[in-house]
Amino acid sequence: MRDRIVILGTGTCQILPHRLSSSVLIELTHLRLLYDIGPGILGRLCESGLKQDDICHIILSHFHPDHVTDLIPLLQASCWSKTDPRSKDLHIYGPKGLKEFFAKMLDLFSPGTFQCDRFTIHIHECEQGTIHIEGMSFDWVSLPHAGNHGLRWIKNEKIYALTGDTYDVEKVIRFLRDAEIAVVDAGHMGEKDIITIAKHACPKRLVCTHLYEELDEEKLNREAADIGYNGTIIVGQDLMSFDLY
Ligand SMILES: [Zn+2]
Repeated sequence: MRDRIVILGTGTCQILPHRLSSSVLIELTHLRLLYDIGPGILGRLCESGLKQDDICHIILSHFHPDHVTDLIPLLQASCWSKTDPRSKDLHIYGPKGLKEFFAKMLDLFSPGTFQCDRFTIHIHECEQGTIHIEGMSFDWVSLPHAGNHGLRWIKNEKIYALTGDTYDVEKVIRFLRDAEIAVVDAGHMGEKDIITIAKHACPKRLVCTHLYEELDEEKLNREAADIGYNGTIIVGQDLMSFDLY
């Protein structure tokens, strides 16, 4: 598996076939994980050639519907699919409140809906700090918006960072500083904020996601360059992939 991130969904709670809700696929040699799993993302996973047992680690930035709701069909298919049943355990990570959220979600459906003895679901409530998954360490950083936490890691001395949902420009600047690739919520923050973040955090590539409306990539880059940013702002597209070197 080559190291890469794939932006599976660049939209939010809008029904747009080319911009599904939030999810980023992270592949790091021996570890594959999902950061968020919004509505429609299972289809994007199929398009990426992935099956149930390929996804064993899911991190939820926070518990809003545009970030979590494809957990429901994922779990049902894990139990009942005849063509792709799950046999490997599933680990779900998230901020404080994850255990209660998950229990309430299961309660919405009849008791047998998610019962299966081929695998176990492990729920990991993560405090602010560091998450360890199969030998990799990830920074898990509170960024204001409904308990949201951003995810950041270092590979080959390069920083990679995903904000999840947030509107706090100052905290985002500290969180993204000098990143090789920074995936940001450009829905809660406007074009001016994105340009300010680019200038002060200086990521090599700043990828805009969680889009409520289309952004003018050329204009963003021009205005950011005018105030001294020398990286690249990219308006994300679903299934856009970035190799990590
Ligand atoms: Zn959202």
